[in-house]
Amino acid sequence: MPLLKSWVASANSADHPFPLNNLPYGVFSTEDSDPRCGVAIGDSILDLAAAEKAGLVAISGIPVFDAPHWNDFMDLGAEAWDALRARLTEILTEGSADEAKAAPLLVPMDKATLHMPIAVREYTDFYAGRNHAFNVGTMFRGPENALPPNWLHIPIGYNGRASSVVVSGTDVRRPWGQLKSPDHDLPAFLPCRRFDLELEMGAIVGTASNGPITVQEADDNIFGYVLLNDWSARDIQAWEYQPLGPFQAKSTATSISPWIITKPALEPFRTDTPEREFELLDHLKDCGPMLYDIDLAVTLAPEGKDATTITRTNYKEMYYSAAQQLAHHTTAGTPMNVGDLLGSGTISGATKPERGSLLELSWGGKEPLTLDTGETRTFLEDGDTLTLTGAAKGDGYTIGFGTCTGTVLPALKDPYAR
Ligand code: CA
Repeated sequence: MPLLKSWVASANSADHPFPLNNLPYGVFSTEDSDPRCGVAIGDSILDLAAAEKAGLVAISGIPVFDAPHWNDFMDLGAEAWDALRARLTEILTEGSADEAKAAPLLVPMDKATLHMPIAVREYTDFYAGRNHAFNVGTMFRGPENALPPNWLHIPIGYNGRASSVVVSGTDVRRPWGQLKSPDHDLPAFLPCRRFDLELEMGAIVGTASNGPITVQEADDNIFGYVLLNDWSARDIQAWEYQPLGPFQAKSTATSISPWIITKPALEPFRTDTPEREFELLDHLKDCGPMLYDIDLAVTLAPEGKDATTITRTNYKEMYYSAAQQLAHHTTAGTPMNVGDLLGSGTISGATKPERGSLLELSWGGKEPLTLDTGETRTFLEDGDTLTLTGAAKGDGYTIGFGTCTGTVLPALKDPYAR
């Protein structure tokens, strides 16, 4: 499929993240309006609450867009998802009869504030990038025992906190926690010294389920994808993680990008999971290409300085697709809800410049990274701004994810001060 032309001129460029082929969904506000649903097209946002009021989009007869999240719309089901995309394509396409009615409902992107696109119902994070799991396992257990014995058979995950998920642009304060240095016999309560990022994709569940679902059903139930940064306190994690996994190390914040890139926009970029040395059990087997070829990158900018690209990798590096993760999630009977968010796990490629965390890039802090500014980093410093980007490259067009940014604020002097 080539670049689809829109009457919104800024959308008609091979490099613009938001052409008519994309149509990503978000929530925005302006000086004059409360948070509401919108769709990005070029350098503008089409106000869907206003479009609904004007009768331009009427998907089910129930108003759903004058809301600070996409949950009500997702709840309408997959037929409504297809109907909205078809209608938006019709409205925004070059030569559309709706141009005169729709043009006044465009809001310039630079006049809008972006908010969380969904009300996150529950949040689960997986550990499904093979290079990441191998690197981290090698650091802690040596290369022979790097992957836990279950790793090649199930996507390992843990239940995180929906309340800690924040939208891109939200500052993240360095946490305090209980740390135990190898040089001391007893732990101490201190500000985290090894604060890190994890480059991930987030999958958004758009259809509820109650009981085990197949990989195909799981793929059908996913509404779309966002960029995700799982902020991680490595020193807190090292002390607390056995035997129940991460807890406070992952409780500070998880940032997501503000635009949901829907499955139809990503359809041309579907790709298979990698070769496996163990066949998966039937209920987790691949039933079609369910990963996506999406280029990912992370930049780090020290306070007031230029950014350095610290990693470049691709979502297709994952060992398990989001559909396999969602299918696995339901096997013991847990209900899944509209608005559930699944983190992919850290995405790392095979070589050093493709690693998706500072833990791996600095090899546990032993090999400091030199930034373009000349400064070095093992873990994040106060004032550092991280920016995740993602884009799938089509023939003459780009499906961009926008950015997922966050700046590290210094730890509070006394977290219990009242
Ligand atoms: Ca993670």
